[in-house]
Amino acid sequence: MNYNVDEKGYYGEFGGAFIPEMLYPNVENLRQQYLKIMAEPSFKKEFDQLLKDYVGRPSPLYFAKRLSEKYNTKVYLKREDLNHTGAHKVNNTIGQILMAKRLGKTRIIAETGAGQHGVATATVCALMGMECIVYMGEIDIARQAPNVARMKMLGAKVRPALSGSRTLKDATNEAIRDWINNPVDTHYIIGSAIGPHPYPDMVTRFQSVISEEIKWQLKEKEGRENPDYVVACIGGGSNAAGTFYHFLHEKEVGIIAVEAAGLGVDSGESAATSVLGKMGIIHGCKTLLMQTADGQITEPYSISAGLDYPGVGPMHAHLYKTGRAEFIAVTDDEAMQAGMVLSKLEGIIPAIESSHAFAILETRKFRPEEIVVFNLSGRGDKDLDTYIKYFKL
Ligand SMILES: *Cc1c(COP(=O)(O)O)cnc(C)c1O
Repeated sequence: MNYNVDEKGYYGEFGGAFIPEMLYPNVENLRQQYLKIMAEPSFKKEFDQLLKDYVGRPSPLYFAKRLSEKYNTKVYLKREDLNHTGAHKVNNTIGQILMAKRLGKTRIIAETGAGQHGVATATVCALMGMECIVYMGEIDIARQAPNVARMKMLGAKVRPALSGSRTLKDATNEAIRDWINNPVDTHYIIGSAIGPHPYPDMVTRFQSVISEEIKWQLKEKEGRENPDYVVACIGGGSNAAGTFYHFLHEKEVGIIAVEAAGLGVDSGESAATSVLGKMGIIHGCKTLLMQTADGQITEPYSISAGLDYPGVGPMHAHLYKTGRAEFIAVTDDEAMQAGMVLSKLEGIIPAIESSHAFAILETRKFRPEEIVVFNLSGRGDKDLDTYIKYFKL
């Protein structure tokens, strides 16, 4: 079984490039160039250097002693929360802005929901002195004021999406419209392991630095490269794709993907795409998607903005369909409690997205000698308001 993308741009039956004809030259040029560019020694050198000196990599692999005692198994945390800007997203935006430069692009566009990907994009545009336009739903602009301010400080223009539900999918539509109008000078930085081929594979490769580091770090600490399990939360699936990548074909490594159940999988307020989704097209690829009977995208819900996405990257849809990965859905309440446990036991306040991953320790039992690596995708500073309201702090 192959879990990587095939030469046609598919993971099993998922993936492909479903794009307006006007964008075909752009996406096709990227498809022809991306692997060549990523293999160039000068590209690798610049990417690695920036990950080291600007992002602060390698991120530590931390043995969580007190968490391990509580759950009677060996828990390691991959500390993506310690990256510059506070999450894994910057690994991808650094990679893509270097790609854009090599492709001769001078203008960057992005879509953002909660603003996290917008901030990561605005950050690298400031770093490279490139023009940056971020599309964001009008509703999201109102409820994510700190991230809007960050983007402005970083020199980006934030353009409101005024149509539809005025949230992420509408921002995505606006970004695609912009790209159609500016195909020559503009690169579209997609923020997760989604989009038309080759985006899911390109984003996964940039994020795969996570599992590349886990391998040598675990070898140093435990004398073996492969843990028994790797666990990550899934919104669109980029931190999970990076965490799983180098273990996909290592049969002895169990892969666990954690989705947001919101108020409960059957509550009508959920983002558990693997359970609730059906084959559909979103963001230019064929994948599992939450939709109505006549194919309209359903508005998802999760307490964590980063998991509040109605689809899942095509690689993950394939991992689900083939049974290679175990999918677990975690509710808002379970995630919030897990965030508190990690804070109290380890002195680490996690992003609520990441808290979803830890929450499985309550119900999914592991053996005492098993090594379970959790990707701590981001830090909780951005979520403090939500923690305050939830726990009445
Ligand atoms: C954006 C985000 C996620 C979800 O995005 P993926 O592409 O699924 O990784 C998870 N954790 C944090 C901290 C985020 O900011």
